[in-house]
This record gives sequence, C-alpha cells and structure tokens, in this order.
Amino acid sequence: MSLDKIYEDINVCSKCELCKNRITQYHYRGNPNSGIIFIGEAPGEDEQIKGYPFVGRCGKLLDRLLFEIGIDVDKHIYITNIVKCRPPNNRAPLQHEILACEIYLIEEIREIKPRLIITLGRTSGYWWNKNKDFDFGVYYQEKRWLPMYHPSYLLRRKDLIPEWKKTMMKVVSAVNDSEF
Ligand code: URA
Ligand code: SF4
Repeated sequence: MSLDKIYEDINVCSKCELCKNRITQYHYRGNPNSGIIFIGEAPGEDEQIKGYPFVGRCGKLLDRLLFEIGIDVDKHIYITNIVKCRPPNNRAPLQHEILACEIYLIEEIREIKPRLIITLGRTSGYWWNKNKDFDFGVYYQEKRWLPMYHPSYLLRRKDLIPEWKKTMMKVVSAVNDSEF
C-alpha cells in the first residue's frame, strides 16, 4: 500500500473515538526514502491544527537538536506517531486506541522499510518492543531499534540533552555510512 493511500485511509478513519478530534487532513513529515523512521506518541494541539507530526513546542526542540547534529528532519528522516488523531487534553493514547490505529503504522513501516527505527518516549518504545517480531517483511533482519527520550522529557531535563545528541549522532551517521 502506498503512503498516499495509507494517509487517505487515515483521514477518513473512524476506528476509534479520537476521530472526533480531527479538524484537518493529517500528513507524515520527512523523507520516506531516508531509511530512518522516528516514532512519537500522538498529535498535540499544534499538530492537530497544522496536520503534521512534531510541529509544536516538542517538534521545534526536536528539529533544533537534530539540526545541531546535521540532521534535517525534512530530508534525512521520516517522522510519524503511534496514533494519528489527537487524544483529549494531550493525555497518552489508551490501549484500545493504539490497537485501533497501529495498522497504519505497521503499513507505514512496511512501506518505507527503515533500516533504523527510533522510538521517542515510552508509548512508542513499548509498542515497538511488543511488535518488533511482527512480520514486517523480508528486510526484517536489517532493522535496528533505538529507544530514545521523548523531546517533551528533554524540555524538563535539559541536562540529558548532550548525551541524547551524542547517541543520536553516532547511530544516525552509522546508518548513513551504511555500517548497518
Ligand atoms: N508529541 C508527539 O509524540 N508527537 C507529536 O506529533 C507531537 C508531540
Ligand atoms: Fe483512526 Fe487512528 Fe484516528 Fe483512531 S486515532 S480514528 S484509529 S486514525
């Protein structure tokens, strides 16, 4: 299934009650051919309004931190969320919402065939850990997973930023240098 088709389906989806919070068309961000997928949690208010993941306060921090280590989000990675519609009051998505929505993420992963999966925060880290043995296709052997702190946590724990950047830089350049 193409990414366009996946997003067409997402934009008419009513598999969970979060669809009531959809106010515009939702898109992914980044480069589907980059080989690297970042998985966040859920759209917040800015994302709900603009229709793209990570375009609010957290997204600005993420863009800046990555830019500082030479990664342009729109060119060098692909970025998406576990659920595609905004949970009320920015609460974490509930289990049944994640289960309703995960097919889109599974299809996205199948489609872009990432060599590296970077989960941001607990929700996506747990999700990937639970699903990583899922049949994503023949390229499975190639995939690597890196669980990282969510930028919302780094907003509160600035002391963790240097280490976060160091790890991110090491792993992303290894992928780009085709070391794996
Ligand atoms: N936090 C997320 O996990 N995803 C977004 O798109 C925005 C904030
Ligand atoms: Fe559909 Fe996902 Fe939105 Fe729920 S969150 S309505 S499953 S697209």
